[in-house]
Amino acid sequence: MNRKYRKTVIAGNWKMNMLSSQIKPFMEELKASLPKTRSCDVVLCTPAVMVPAMIKAGKDCKVATGAQDVSCFDKGAYTGEISAEQLADAGVKYCIVGHSERREYHGEDDMLVNAKAKALLANGVQPIICVGESLEQREMDLTMEYVTYQVKAALGGITAAQLRRCIIAYEPIWAIGTGRTATAQQAQEVCEEIRAVVRKMYGARPARAISILYGGSMNAKNAAELLAQPDIDGGLIGGASLKPADFAAIVAATAQE
Ligand code: PEP
Repeated sequence: MNRKYRKTVIAGNWKMNMLSSQIKPFMEELKASLPKTRSCDVVLCTPAVMVPAMIKAGKDCKVATGAQDVSCFDKGAYTGEISAEQLADAGVKYCIVGHSERREYHGEDDMLVNAKAKALLANGVQPIICVGESLEQREMDLTMEYVTYQVKAALGGITAAQLRRCIIAYEPIWAIGTGRTATAQQAQEVCEEIRAVVRKMYGARPARAISILYGGSMNAKNAAELLAQPDIDGGLIGGASLKPADFAAIVAATAQE
């Protein structure tokens, strides 16, 4: 983390878990476990139908609400889709795009990820853009090349002013939901490279200011070491965000200097 230049963000990704009725007890427990003073922004990305309930419950303990996906289209005959304008209208502040599960199960490619990020930015919602290599790519030493390509593609046509509202999450696919975390050194190396790519595209200041998160089996035990890395500005957390005490412990881990 480098709080002098950028925000620290801890974002939970509930994926397709939880029910609306569980939000209130979850948030009560979270509120009781969260540190009284916080050194980061806290976000919970819920399934879309739970957004109103989370917005209501989140106000009390300063937890922002995020979504997990968005349509790249503005409006019209796209059954089942939700537009960026509709998310903004509902009070959503952040939205994950390009999660590896969307890429894998819904065939999302880098162009679509870029279009979704732009739709969010046009409507004042902060995209959390996910990138990350597969195990095969890591073993073939293609990590940097692949992640560089993904970052360039995701940011294509995004202005420097818009970049200020973007967050990038480095999520090695082999670490998501597997319990196998990247070592702090592996995560730092890639996050540093991502910042270097942003520097080449936009210059030193925007690169210094962008928050880059790590995601992939981050938990209460390993968070402090990961967050101590200079280019890791927070976490995108799946499994551990479903347990209030664990999620709060990750938030507390941002308090280190
Ligand atoms: C994720 O889904 O973005 C994620 C990082 O999941 P987990 O923390 O469970 O690995």
